[in-house]
Amino acid sequence: MNGQQEKTPGFNCPNCDFFIEVSLKSLLFDSGQDCPGCLTGFKMDRQESKKALELMQKLNTVVDNLESAKDFSPANYSHGDLHKRFGRK
Ligand SMILES: [Zn+2]
Repeated sequence: MNGQQEKTPGFNCPNCDFFIEVSLKSLLFDSGQDCPGCLTGFKMDRQESKKALELMQKLNTVVDNLESAKDFSPANYSHGDLHKRFGRK
């Protein structure tokens, strides 16, 4: 389990073979993903995605940099935690 995989996380749609990107955000907070190619909805199995999550933890910094350039707002998801971390005493 120490291969350095730098390819985009995701999977190929069994329906149309479109490569579906799975972002860390969607893994963490969503329970499903839609195929952009054929609009088939997929349910994320939490057990399955746990493996992917562990792998993506390593890419966390990179993903974080990418997401911060977009509209990612962690406060929406873990405000309680953020308050603790940023010392609101
Ligand atoms: Zn598809």
